[in-house]
Amino acid sequence: MYYPEPLAKLIDSFSKLPGIGPKTAARLAFHVLRMKEEEAIDFAKALVSVKRNLSYCSVCCNITDIDPCRICQDKGRDASVICVVQEPKDLVAMERTKEFNGYYHVLHGAISPMEGIGPDEIHMAELLKRLGDEQVQELILATNPNIEGEATAMYLSRLVKPFGLKVTRIAHGLPVGGDLEYADEVTLTKALEGRRELN
Ligand SMILES: [Zn+2]
Repeated sequence: MYYPEPLAKLIDSFSKLPGIGPKTAARLAFHVLRMKEEEAIDFAKALVSVKRNLSYCSVCCNITDIDPCRICQDKGRDASVICVVQEPKDLVAMERTKEFNGYYHVLHGAISPMEGIGPDEIHMAELLKRLGDEQVQELILATNPNIEGEATAMYLSRLVKPFGLKVTRIAHGLPVGGDLEYADEVTLTKALEGRRELN
């Protein structure tokens, strides 16, 4: 109402982002207004590019610009272990520890009866297919140490029982109720070392 339409639209777009209130949205929009034109175009291109050029890896479901993703194409990794995480950013957190050299599976969420998210809403079926096809011996369940993450880990451990795998859960050192992505490398390394068997 008080701003010309293009600016109002940009403020509205920013305010849809998580953690951005109306004041911050206006501040960011005015920042864009002061940008050099090329800078603003690069910014807009980056936004479009993540939608157009990224997809899910057909093996591990991580976001990628090539399929299979770089990690799944890396033959130097230990094919006997798959680490299951909720989000791509959790995979990045695990990679930062440099302690894990197996492959990953990204669920893109966790089971949450409260929010109506069941096993079919996350990428579990793709994981089961891999367990049938690949030479996996251990599944590390690195879902978040909160109610949804624990529920997902318990559900998965029961689901994969017929495969006769070693199923472990990271535990020690991670704050309960926390998010994997905020854990520092040392804490996450400890959690990985202290994983325990679930079945
Ligand atoms: Zn992959």
